[in-house]
Amino acid sequence: MGMFNTLFAEITCENCHHRQVEQIQFKFGDTWLFEYRIGDRLQWGGNDKGRPGLSMVKVLGCLVAKCCTVCRHPYHYDYDIIISHDIIKSINKATSIADYLAIEDDWCIITE
Ligand SMILES: [Zn+2]
Repeated sequence: MGMFNTLFAEITCENCHHRQVEQIQFKFGDTWLFEYRIGDRLQWGGNDKGRPGLSMVKVLGCLVAKCCTVCRHPYHYDYDIIISHDIIKSINKATSIADYLAIEDDWCIITE
């Protein structure tokens, strides 16, 4: 079965600019339904995906909510989760899904 972790991060609606904490699912680190926030350190040593200790890596994350709760404007679906030395640093809208498709995995080394 595909286990994953969840990142709780603030998403800003592109239409009405309402900000709300939403869930982003990703598969990196020990994937066992752990819940993280920006600034947290990933856990390793179980159902591990990826590699620990990388200088900088981006991990594909998928937003659970489909749209803004205020105006119903559709949310962007795919996010890059930036992780540096196992600390979750930030999220960005994923602009290059091809990077992941090229290596057929959910994580992509930026700096080893
Ligand atoms: Zn909205």
